[in-house]
Amino acid sequence: MPLKWHACMSQVLVLNASYEPLNITSWRRATVLMLKGKAETLEEDENHNIRQHVKAPTVIRLRQFIRVPYRDISLNRKNIFQRDNNLCQYCGQKNKKLSIDHVLPRSRGGKDNWENVITACLQCNVMKGNRTPEEANMPLRTKPYKPLNNMSFETTKQIHSGRHKEWSKYVIGWVA
Ligand SMILES: [Zn+2]
Repeated sequence: MPLKWHACMSQVLVLNASYEPLNITSWRRATVLMLKGKAETLEEDENHNIRQHVKAPTVIRLRQFIRVPYRDISLNRKNIFQRDNNLCQYCGQKNKKLSIDHVLPRSRGGKDNWENVITACLQCNVMKGNRTPEEANMPLRTKPYKPLNNMSFETTKQIHSGRHKEWSKYVIGWVA
């Protein structure tokens, strides 16, 4: 059966001239940028033509560097829960009372950073106690990562959703 053209497939990752991810756009908008000579295609979808002999782009790069103000996403409960989709990273359940868990417990030198904090339900948090996930035999469902700078949080989440495998090589901190 031929692959269906899903809306998510029509998303295009836009890179700055420096190859840093900037945002996600539609292929229509991406095509306009290319026709105007403002962007070049780096990756395209082999299975979909937007016109004869023209494949749909999936990654484009701007020819001119765009200056983006530096914006760090602050490490707080709300943002950690959002990154983890409000799911306990141990049991995978939502709609439970959520808490913040340090993967390597703070009492054992675990730091307050994006790579060491995750969303956990109270039950799992208590069960894990003062142990690492390995010691507690409670594997993490996803590897905690620092959301990218200079992009909206939603864009970062989309990139990390793993729907676009061909984006991975352009994204630092990619978790497949
Ligand atoms: Zn849990």
